[in-house]
Amino acid sequence: MTVEHAKPVPASVWHGWGDPAQRKPLPGNALRFLDDALGAPAAPGLPVRLEQVLLNDSALPDDAAAAITAVVGAEHVRTDRACRVVHAGGKSYVDLLRRRRGDAEHAPDAVVYPGDQEQVQHLLAVCVEHEVAVVPFGGGTSVVGGVEPVRGRFGALIALDLERLDALLDVDPVSMTATLQAGMRGPQIEEALGRHGLTLGHFPQSWEQASFGGFVATRSAGQASTGYGRIDEQVLGVTCATPSGDLVLGRGPASAAGPRLLDVVIGSEGRLGVITSATVGVRRKPTVQRFAGWSFPSFAAGTDAFRALAQELGHGVAPDSCRLSDEEETFTTLTLAGGAMGARAMRGYLRARGRRAGSLAIFGWGGVRASEVKRRRHAAATLLRRQGGIPLGSGPGKAWAHGRYAGPYLRDELLDHGVLVETLETATTWTDLPALHAAVAQALRCALTAPGSDPIVECHISHIYRSGASLYFTVVARRDPKDPEGQWHAAKSAASAVIAAHGASATHQHAVGIDHAPWMAAEVGDTGLQLLAAMKNAVDPTGILNPGKMAP
Ligand SMILES: Cc1cc2nc3c(=O)[nH]c(=O)nc-3n(C[C@H](O)[C@H](O)[C@H](O)COP(=O)(O)OP(=O)(O)OC[C@H]3O[C@@H](n4cnc5c(N)ncnc54)[C@H](O)[C@@H]3O)c2cc1C
Repeated sequence: MTVEHAKPVPASVWHGWGDPAQRKPLPGNALRFLDDALGAPAAPGLPVRLEQVLLNDSALPDDAAAAITAVVGAEHVRTDRACRVVHAGGKSYVDLLRRRRGDAEHAPDAVVYPGDQEQVQHLLAVCVEHEVAVVPFGGGTSVVGGVEPVRGRFGALIALDLERLDALLDVDPVSMTATLQAGMRGPQIEEALGRHGLTLGHFPQSWEQASFGGFVATRSAGQASTGYGRIDEQVLGVTCATPSGDLVLGRGPASAAGPRLLDVVIGSEGRLGVITSATVGVRRKPTVQRFAGWSFPSFAAGTDAFRALAQELGHGVAPDSCRLSDEEETFTTLTLAGGAMGARAMRGYLRARGRRAGSLAIFGWGGVRASEVKRRRHAAATLLRRQGGIPLGSGPGKAWAHGRYAGPYLRDELLDHGVLVETLETATTWTDLPALHAAVAQALRCALTAPGSDPIVECHISHIYRSGASLYFTVVARRDPKDPEGQWHAAKSAASAVIAAHGASATHQHAVGIDHAPWMAAEVGDTGLQLLAAMKNAVDPTGILNPGKMAP
């Protein structure tokens, strides 16, 4: 087929999320709710101007710059302020705080845009020869320090931005597979596959900005991954350039040819090589979409219902999207929704049935045959009723679907209002889930409570499996003006210690980066760390790729 390049997506603002024009001011009821909940308004925290951001001079040696330019051409090597600052880190709360107060001293010395696999391979060779560290950069939406420009022992560092690798390379409608280049962003993927009546079905909340290569490199999970599978379940093959040569992995739908090396590349977070393209399983683009809200008497009751969905209905029948908010998140959602989502009507409806808000669940289904979607909805409804659920109609689900990419813009508003807002996630067994939920919430609350100010700590189950589920916590607290970064690091560290003590995963979807590296020994053990180091040494013996990430 002819290679199809995608239309560019708007670049993200350097101090926040996406296109600032899409931001909406916080409504009055949200501000009042925040002030009530957190005790008092925090001091505002507006970003400095781009010209005020501190930036070191580029330390890229002339001979390295010349060799890099010879590979990609001068127009694809950028050292200007705007470009370096936007590549100075990811999109976590701490990343944004630092850039907003004008700290980008550590920004990459140059940002390089290769145009194909061959150029990526040449660039790696040049960087090995000139001892330049390389940070592969997709959408730059990492929230765990994955694109932090850590130089390690190297004097200079480039960000290798993959945005020019934006083509749909192949579609096989018989085998239902597609091969995509790594730099395609979420909307570009769906636009390109949509022209063939197909979908990847991968919709993380960062979808507008995150890239296909980033999905694969971080083993991401989308909001419909209960139905479509996580990205690691969808990838059938990859092409990855390493300093020791190309890895081309994945033959046929299944293989017994030794350990699955494909899995070594999926989730490798730019430590082993640069993923330039991957082949994935795709589905027919849904023509029928249905959403529903349900209420459960408590998070515990809802958790039992979600377990039953995963274990009794299973893959392919359970809803594609399943989200269960705990009581705190349900309260916030219903309070902030005001008249939207039919929240008032919903509260009245629940009161009439003798129930307070309890725990709100959202479900989503997609398909190409209305009868099939109906059958799955009925199967879920029968089970959920049996588990004590009350149906709330399609309103809450449609409102969630409509606003599901708004969260990151809302975060920018909250940052302007001087608030701490951040998330963390984990996954555990159904058996341990209630205890872990309570213990992490308690650790976060203890760490973030200040005199006269209680934090909001809320959580939802975002993905369900036969043996367990993910827990996704959101915290909002009054920002400590003296040490805002230390405030969050203390809370995160307390939560991570609890997660490790429970034997739960350090991360379900956000990946390791820098933030979870200290918890990798708990995750894989000392022998596991040795294996990770040996794999790195085998393909990147000089260690130019993403120094300081993944392992302690
Ligand atoms: C608001 C917000 C919401 C989010 N929601 C979700 C969510 O719902 N689910 C979820 O899973 N994650 C979520 N994330 C985290 C993040 O979006 C994902 O980890 C995403 O997969 C990263 O993609 P990216 O293209 O932005 O990668 P980047 O941030 O550019 O890179 C992430 C890591 O992968 C490496 N990398 C990137 N591209 C390549 C490549 N081609 N080859 C080799 N290494 C590469 C980088 O070096 C880095 O270590 C969210 C983040 C934000 C800010």
